[in-house]
Amino acid sequence: MIAVIRQSATTDQLDHFVAWVEAKGLKTNVSQGEDETIVGLIGDVSRIDPFLLESMDIVERVQRVSEPFKKANRKFHPEDTVIECRGVKIGGGNFQVMAGPCSVEGKNLIEIARACQKAGATMIRGGAFKPRTSPYSNQGMGERGLDLLVEVRKELGMPIVTEIMDARDIELFVDREIDVMQVGARNMQNFTLLKELGRTDTPILLKRGMAATIDEWLMSAEYIMSEGNDKVMLCERGIRTFETRTRNTFDLNAIPVLHHLTHLPIVADPSHATGYTRYVAPMALAATAAGADALEIEVHDDPSNAWSDGGQALTPSMFADTMRRVGLIRDAVTQEVR
Ligand code: PEP
Ligand code: MN
Repeated sequence: MIAVIRQSATTDQLDHFVAWVEAKGLKTNVSQGEDETIVGLIGDVSRIDPFLLESMDIVERVQRVSEPFKKANRKFHPEDTVIECRGVKIGGGNFQVMAGPCSVEGKNLIEIARACQKAGATMIRGGAFKPRTSPYSNQGMGERGLDLLVEVRKELGMPIVTEIMDARDIELFVDREIDVMQVGARNMQNFTLLKELGRTDTPILLKRGMAATIDEWLMSAEYIMSEGNDKVMLCERGIRTFETRTRNTFDLNAIPVLHHLTHLPIVADPSHATGYTRYVAPMALAATAAGADALEIEVHDDPSNAWSDGGQALTPSMFADTMRRVGLIRDAVTQEVR
């Protein structure tokens, strides 16, 4: 970390500042130029709050020279992480598609899952615990929904992805050997949940918070990894901007940016990112071209009667057509899009 010191600072103030930094257990390197004085802070800079530094009268600005995320950082782990879920690999050139309804609703799950599998999906998604904006909206089937997902897995042999909202439910998920636990956008900074998930051995699909920067998102991944679980996938699902024509704004930039910064697999969710069925296929293709390691797409056999997110669901036949085109894009870009 580097602190640029204001020109108006006196020698006394500078000495006082250096002593304060060193008292925190860091070393300093003071470089006095003609126009500005720069103090390099060397050592474990996590001991110092950069906002506190910047609020000091003699400090003009503070610049980080290394990222605060370590385990997720590609610098310390250059090769891509490949996550294996019941034999299905994601990352490092292995491309997968997770598909299924927003909410697990009952018996139609198996029909939807079968259609998705036939179209080429390799993992089944469905929410049993639903993070609804309103407490009066349907909150999902809960435990019974998890059981239905397990039945589908047994029948079709595909790994299942489902959202966990509360650390108190971890046992329900682990007992059923849920293959991927999804952390929803609304929980991306629920650090208690993230730490608890870090103590499990189950792959985690960490969705981007709707107002989270890429760095905040990576720090959330770091929370999980710092507890011992390295099996984290990051899922771009759109962020909130001034645009109102779509539910969210799909940050396609995040895909190559994350590939540059981290070794973790990157998943893209064009369903929540756009919020409208008609935009899902084009953005699924775009995310594939941009280098996503996997897609997560909502599919429903009767969107107009879906419990949630019917307006962004693809029907099984739309999904099959999207998959065909995703395959063409994958062929066109091969595996060297980074
Ligand atoms: C979902 O995947 O159904 C979901 C609720 O996603 P998000 O957390 O991205 O809104
Ligand atoms: Mn949904």
